[in-house]
Amino acid sequence: MMPEKIGAYANMPVWTQVLIAIVGATITIVPLLVWSDKRVNRKHQHWLCPDCKKPFGIQEQYRFWAIKHKRLSTPPSRGPILRCPHCQKDFAFSPDGRQVDEDGNFV
Ligand SMILES: [Zn+2]
Repeated sequence: MMPEKIGAYANMPVWTQVLIAIVGATITIVPLLVWSDKRVNRKHQHWLCPDCKKPFGIQEQYRFWAIKHKRLSTPPSRGPILRCPHCQKDFAFSPDGRQVDEDGNFV
């Protein structure tokens, strides 16, 4: 019977309800985070290394650069840092895939 079930939930101690809410939120959010992380990684693996012109491939570690101080020049102010598996060098990029220097200016 439905009313009894609702009553049972309301009679639970508050900490149990909080626990259920936390567990429920974790189950919902974690796969979403993992999914969005993998999706971003997949987008970058086709970008080419400026040195050897080979694709970066899947990154072991996903890193970002960001400008902390305000600049007068145009964005980007943040983007991914990709390591070329062939040259073992790090390269900074704008979010749309153009190479930038350490100050965030287009190369
Ligand atoms: Zn390379």
